[in-house]
Amino acid sequence: MTDVAAALAFTHEATRGRVVFGVGSRRSAAVELDRLGATRPLIIASDFENTLAEELTAELAAHGVAVAGRFRDVVQHVPRAHADDVVAAVTDASADSVITIGGGSATGFGKVVRLERDVAFIAVPTTYAGSEMTTIWGRTDGDHKQTGNDPRVKPDTVIYDPELTLGLPATIAGPSGMNALAHCVEAMYGPGANPIIGLHAREGIRALAAGLPRVCSDADGLDARTEVLYGAFLAGVALAGGGTALHHKTCHVLGGMFGLDHGAMNAVVLGHALAYNAPAIPQVMESIGAALGTSGDGAADALFDLTVAIGAPHSLEAIGMPADGIDEAARRVVDEAAANVRRPEEDGIRQMLLDAFYGRRPA
Ligand code: NAD
Repeated sequence: MTDVAAALAFTHEATRGRVVFGVGSRRSAAVELDRLGATRPLIIASDFENTLAEELTAELAAHGVAVAGRFRDVVQHVPRAHADDVVAAVTDASADSVITIGGGSATGFGKVVRLERDVAFIAVPTTYAGSEMTTIWGRTDGDHKQTGNDPRVKPDTVIYDPELTLGLPATIAGPSGMNALAHCVEAMYGPGANPIIGLHAREGIRALAAGLPRVCSDADGLDARTEVLYGAFLAGVALAGGGTALHHKTCHVLGGMFGLDHGAMNAVVLGHALAYNAPAIPQVMESIGAALGTSGDGAADALFDLTVAIGAPHSLEAIGMPADGIDEAARRVVDEAAANVRRPEEDGIRQMLLDAFYGRRPA
């Protein structure tokens, strides 16, 4: 076989779902609901997103759709009791659909409804988490987060309206954007990587790297917000198909051990995890470098520089990791990331964590 023929042997599974993207697209919610044959939506949005929820309610009313109910008790990681409450709210309101407005937390509530009830699901994301494009759900029992993969939980329709992200402050937008960037980067070499996912991931990297500095400095409002939300959509697709590797496993370990903020960890760890993987994936490094506007050798550095430029955290020490946790964290990362594209060795992972801890450039 030639190199090209060998490289173009892959399995790709597209997931169903409709995406409506663009400034003002939230106003198409009534039309999208009608396409799904639904007339009684329950709106899931925290009090923080109350203005957006009220605006949507008025918009639907103008199209003759009466909202059947409203669920406000959105908290991170979908605690079991809250999951039961949202399902009960759907039943009590005789809702035939749910519309979530908010970040990954709100989307997560729509997903657990779909595990229990056969209702239509429209997601209106307002952060860059990407959950709306995946078939992964999560629910927390006590301190145990249960996750699963089920095609039913993916929204039928996702409405991305960049105007809804105008209020996202740099302190949330930066780390959330780095999380999206991490989804793209790891999809390039994750367990599900293939040329189709690579197209999404590379364009996602380009859009996010180009837009995030402008979003975080508020330089050119809606254009930058549009470009980054587009990148976040692509990152969600990349995550759904490509899966995750060393970077996300490291964040999972650090989050579990020390309760560090998820977005902040993503910002700190990404360049270091990519530098660790670099020797095993020279061609992928060239692709990631090109998407970032540099060479393969410069890719990890470019991610580090981007983190610093957008004012996101770049040291694990600064976000609350204790120094005496590094050795145990390294051991756990070695276990959890055993299937990584470069086999994790304890000394190398400890050094990676030390560099990230002190905010050094990726080695
Ligand atoms: P989030 O939804 O908790 O939102 C973070 C904060 O941003 C909240 O305080 C929220 O009120 C605020 N916010 C949201 N939109 C805003 C806006 N436009 N303007 C101003 N403030 C705004 O956090 P997240 O990072 O979006 O999502 C995190 C959750 O999503 C976690 O539970 C994570 O596990 C989950 N997640 C799941 C998947 C998946 O595939 N299942 C993927 C990514 C994340």
